[in-house]
Amino acid sequence: MTIDVQQYLVRQEPYYQPQGREVQLYEAAYRNRLPVMVKGPTGCGKSRFIEYMAWKLDRPLITVACNEDMTASDLVGRYLLEADGTRWIDGPLTTAARIGAICYLDEVVEARQDTTVVIHPLTDHRRTLPLDKKGELIVAHPDFQLVISYNPGYQSLMKDLKQSTKQRFAAFDFDYPDADLETAILAREAGIAAELAGRLVKVGLAARNLKGHGLDEGISTRLLVYAAKLINDGVDAADACRMALVRPITDDADIRDTLDNAIDAIF
Ligand code: ADP
Repeated sequence: MTIDVQQYLVRQEPYYQPQGREVQLYEAAYRNRLPVMVKGPTGCGKSRFIEYMAWKLDRPLITVACNEDMTASDLVGRYLLEADGTRWIDGPLTTAARIGAICYLDEVVEARQDTTVVIHPLTDHRRTLPLDKKGELIVAHPDFQLVISYNPGYQSLMKDLKQSTKQRFAAFDFDYPDADLETAILAREAGIAAELAGRLVKVGLAARNLKGHGLDEGISTRLLVYAAKLINDGVDAADACRMALVRPITDDADIRDTLDNAIDAIF
């Protein structure tokens, strides 16, 4: 079975504004084939960064969005029943290990424990992946790298990565970009003027200050980009902010009022 590697290549340079020295540090991690963990709140640029690095390093990128129903077989592969017998189908992790891709497991903590255990042998000196059901041991391609993302804000005692998993990765801390950087990102991503982008960033800051005071998590850069796109499309700024920034993140009437008032004051 041949795998079309081309389909996994990131063809165009993704727009990525570095927040610090993460590009150089990632390159060093990749040179040493260290597994990497990117930590931070949702929508702050983790996936965009990995996409950018895959492009920069010219490696194929295989992304898997993890969820609680995901099993080890979803990552590794399984036998499929067919008319004339059974056929083995590689899972995304197996494909990545075979072709030397960067395998990005997004929100890995969502997956069941047995799933996190299958990645262990890939993350140490062994760099192997046992396909138990198939009776095959894959030695990862020399260019293969495992990357996981992790949102520390969501973790509870029940759902956290074990130390034995955490201590297999080099980690990058991500957070929302600072105001100037976020303004530049919104202006570029949505094609809006910097002045308008700056106002949206202020709404974001207002919401982020409410984290822990009624909000579990602030407004993400991703949502600010949504609002910016709506405004660029002619939607009234206050409507766009309510729709893209406030309604998705909370159902609490008081918090909605607070944020709606902030929007009216800013626009
Ligand atoms: P997550 O942290 O959940 O993986 P993403 O990487 O998908 O978040 O980021 C969400 C969106 O925010 C991106 O699609 C992009 O528009 C924007 N973004 C966030 N940070 C950056 C950045 N540093 N450079 C460019 N765009 C960014």
